Amino acid sequence: MSQKSLQDRFGRTIEYLRLSITDQCDLRCFYCMPRGFSDYELPEHWLTEEEIERVVGAFTRLGTRRVRITGGEPLVRRGIDDIASRLAALPGLEDLSLSTNAVRLARHARSLHEAGVRRINVSLDTLRPERFREITGGKLSKVLDGLQAAREAGFSPVKINMVVMRGVNDDEVEAMVAFCMEMGFTLRFIETMPVGDTGRRAQDHFMPLDDIRRRLEQRFDLTPGLMPGGGPARYLRVAGSDLNIGFITPMSQHFCDTCNRVRLGVDGTLHLCLGQSHSVPLRPLLRAGASDTELEGEIRRAIELKPERHEFNERPEQVVRFMSMTGG
Ligand code: SAM
Ligand code: SF4
Repeated sequence: MSQKSLQDRFGRTIEYLRLSITDQCDLRCFYCMPRGFSDYELPEHWLTEEEIERVVGAFTRLGTRRVRITGGEPLVRRGIDDIASRLAALPGLEDLSLSTNAVRLARHARSLHEAGVRRINVSLDTLRPERFREITGGKLSKVLDGLQAAREAGFSPVKINMVVMRGVNDDEVEAMVAFCMEMGFTLRFIETMPVGDTGRRAQDHFMPLDDIRRRLEQRFDLTPGLMPGGGPARYLRVAGSDLNIGFITPMSQHFCDTCNRVRLGVDGTLHLCLGQSHSVPLRPLLRAGASDTELEGEIRRAIELKPERHEFNERPEQVVRFMSMTGG
């Protein structure tokens, strides 16, 4: 009989899986992936749809209730709708969500919603086309089309993730608030993390989100807010509106003591912490014909290795993987 919950050594219950289905991406956000980068994982190392279903099935039997599909950019993987349908059908899975840059979302929004994805997070750091190109190398209009399609398809909530960077886009915080208010989206600000060389270089633009909160308090009446999803964001609501604003502060105020998640890479490596290198490869086990009981046992043993906290501030050189490799 399977143990019905995963507990780590620090008494945290792990019930949330971030599932990277590709390390590839059609953008090159400068804080995430280097321009010109193409040293991707070999396709024969990607977990197949069946293998993904097996691993996530093992997690749900061990108490995981929530899965977020991510990457890289998950919409570049062929078969994304099938993967989503398979996951949505797993007994015990209550919440299937997706993180995307939305470049291809106009094409996929409806089918993903039909497949059972209900919540969607979209990365959007600027509303200015020229600046968007500078930050990501891509075209803003595609993202805006994708967001419109997400709204029409019925995703709720749609959350906008904005990495706030001093001297890059911090002058657009108020514009992003107005945009999200108008569109009925939730807005989340994120601090840059020193993940990979790209992330470390972006620390030159690091901005503690307290600065942003204080700035917004001068313009808006902010009251404590609450959002479903149980993530690390602390929410404030703009009084007199439906807008919730989340602050994700891995650097200035870490939230490791309530961490409830692990990450599965496209190659089947289980990463126990975004900011540490502790990991366990599951692919060899899967391809050696392990039973479900053996797979569950390996996952339980892996959870034992989950470190207490990241050390982004003390050891910023620690993580060599880019965010797109681990599954952000
Ligand atoms: N491609 C999808 C997207 O952009 O939403 C999903 C994967 S992306 C790696 C997930 C999130 O990681 C995005 O919101 C992105 O802004 C964030 N991210 C990537 N590198 C980061 C860094 N160095 N610091 C903070 N956030 C980062
Ligand atoms: Fe791609 Fe997302 Fe990384 Fe940007 S943040 S390069 S969209 S994986």
